Amino acid sequence: QVHTERERTMREFKKSSKLDHVLYDVRGPVVDEAARMEAEGERILKLNIGNPAPFGFRTPDEVVKDMRQQLTECEGYSDSRGLFSARKAIMQYSQVKGLPNVQMEHIYTGNGVSELIQLSMHALLDDGDEILIPSPDYPLWTACATLAGGHPVHYLCDEQADWYPDIADMESKISDRTKALVIINPNNPTGAVYPREVLEQIVEVARRHQLMIFSDEIYDRLCMDGVEHVSIASLAPDLPCVTFSGLSKSHMIAGYRIGWMVLSGNTRCMSDFLLGVNMLSNMRLCSNVPAQSIVQTALGGYQSVETYVRPGGRVCDQRDFVYRALNEIDGITAVKPKAAFYIFPKIDAKKFNIHDDEQFALDLLHEKKILVTRGGGFNWEQPDHFRVVYLPRMEVLAECMDDLADFLSTYHQD
Ligand code: PLP
Repeated sequence: QVHTERERTMREFKKSSKLDHVLYDVRGPVVDEAARMEAEGERILKLNIGNPAPFGFRTPDEVVKDMRQQLTECEGYSDSRGLFSARKAIMQYSQVKGLPNVQMEHIYTGNGVSELIQLSMHALLDDGDEILIPSPDYPLWTACATLAGGHPVHYLCDEQADWYPDIADMESKISDRTKALVIINPNNPTGAVYPREVLEQIVEVARRHQLMIFSDEIYDRLCMDGVEHVSIASLAPDLPCVTFSGLSKSHMIAGYRIGWMVLSGNTRCMSDFLLGVNMLSNMRLCSNVPAQSIVQTALGGYQSVETYVRPGGRVCDQRDFVYRALNEIDGITAVKPKAAFYIFPKIDAKKFNIHDDEQFALDLLHEKKILVTRGGGFNWEQPDHFRVVYLPRMEVLAECMDDLADFLSTYHQD
């Protein structure tokens, strides 16, 4: 490329320093390396991204048909919170889940839950405000809290206790600046589903310290083994709660971009926060209207996801397979996930001398063409975990597990 003198002397445009401490590794450097290898013609086995459609999980036909029919009606902006029909369906869904005191004006649709996580963190956090976030987490929560100027403080989830939050650790991390706590239930990356007793203890902590509760429940319809999903907001009618869900995972339409958040419980103490949420919601005008238009059909219609998560269904069978295969590998142990489509195995870091989990992921990629996400990408501090997405078909998973076992049979980090 030829540069003119004027081009060469142009000042440099640096990224905002607000991004200096923002981590979002689910699509980070190891993924970039995989893309580079793919561009060179390598075939990469991708166990890194929770995007169901490319793995053959199809959207229910009626949802696609509904979208097609409604498209011509969806050319304009909607109300900034969302279409009446979508919010009404979300309201009914919230009532079925026992969320107390839900009103139509407290329901917001978004371009995925992602947009609403960002929006709510900006609406709540002042510089230096603290928010409790699980470790491991879905890293968008930490990233958005940081970007909003807040200070994410991580509480531990305990692998020995089925990855449930360590309540004592959670409480010990509360300070005068703590405004809120986040739970991800069912959890990404661990696949844990929190029982009622655990949720009640979390509610008690929030009650004692006057914290707002944010609950990310995007996997609530992907529970297995007959496990019941309880919305924490249903146990906290006296507290300010914000519950997040959407259709990306339950209806396999991550690409349509539709999610929502519902404020419930003590909305009186949230009135100023609500003004902030309204302002930010108005500023983005509205979420994707065609995607909103199918919410009613999706929530009220055939729940194809149920066939995937029952025994004999793809998600359930693949979970069983991966869980067994991982635990058979010398140096790996994994807790059985109860929901979603992730497993977060532990590697014996001492045995393999692993001190850098990004290097581990890169070595696995280079040697076996398998792409996983390192534990550090989920704000897990020790270099001894990685996340596997078990959405690919059984044949692919079987090949990956064999290759992983082979890789680890000789692996030793320098
Ligand atoms: N929350 C969790 C826990 C997730 O795992 C994801 C996506 O993987 C999201 C939110 C984002 O979902 P959406 O597609 O609705 O933006």
